[in-house]
Amino acid sequence: MTPSAFLTEAKCVLHKSEFIYFCTKCHVLICGKCVTTEHKGHDITDIKTVADNYRRSAEGNISDLKVAVTKLSKVVGQMKEIEKPTIKRTSDSAVAEVDASVKKITDIVSFKKENTLYEVQNQLDIEIEEFQYDLKNKERMYEHQNNICESLQRLVHVSHDITFITSYETLKRDIHDISDLVGERGHEQMYKFDKKGFVQEVVNAIVSNFEMCLVGKEDGSVVLTHKTDIKKKEKE
Ligand SMILES: [Zn+2]
Ligand SMILES: [Zn+2]
Repeated sequence: MTPSAFLTEAKCVLHKSEFIYFCTKCHVLICGKCVTTEHKGHDITDIKTVADNYRRSAEGNISDLKVAVTKLSKVVGQMKEIEKPTIKRTSDSAVAEVDASVKKITDIVSFKKENTLYEVQNQLDIEIEEFQYDLKNKERMYEHQNNICESLQRLVHVSHDITFITSYETLKRDIHDISDLVGERGHEQMYKFDKKGFVQEVVNAIVSNFEMCLVGKEDGSVVLTHKTDIKKKEKE
């Protein structure tokens, strides 16, 4: 408040006269003319008595305010010194916890990924090896049987009977039954990524790493529960 706030009009606005009384009914300062006009018949008091009462009342306000202000100042101090750092600490630790959880999850996922890629590679290596073996075997057999076929084709034109018989006996021994080699190759052994199994494994690993369990509810939903909570329930 500025000092000018104390300098209010000291005269009656209606009659332009000095205030000389206080109307206790209307709670305003009044002039001599007011007494017989606007405030006619009202209870009036002298200004000094009202001022003294008001001063005592102001003293009371001051002591009440001092108590309240002191209390408020303590509250403000506590908020600054205790609550503010606590909020900061709580926020910091929440951020750290989120980071740690995310790191744990990504570490588990990466680990499972490496494992699965290793398995895929291993499986495909075995399949490629089997494939190569099969291919080589068939190629060899093709060469061999094709040669025999060509030889037989040449042999049938040999007119010398003894040469034909002995050669045919020799070639005949080398004719193999290749019917089981010409059938369609089965693809059922081909490696197939088990996506469902992979997701299941990753989820289980994450859940158990957080000391939690997946619990099925009666309504068919599945919820995460802390292992310690389950133990507590079992005890009950
Ligand atoms: Zn007046
Ligand atoms: Zn009055």
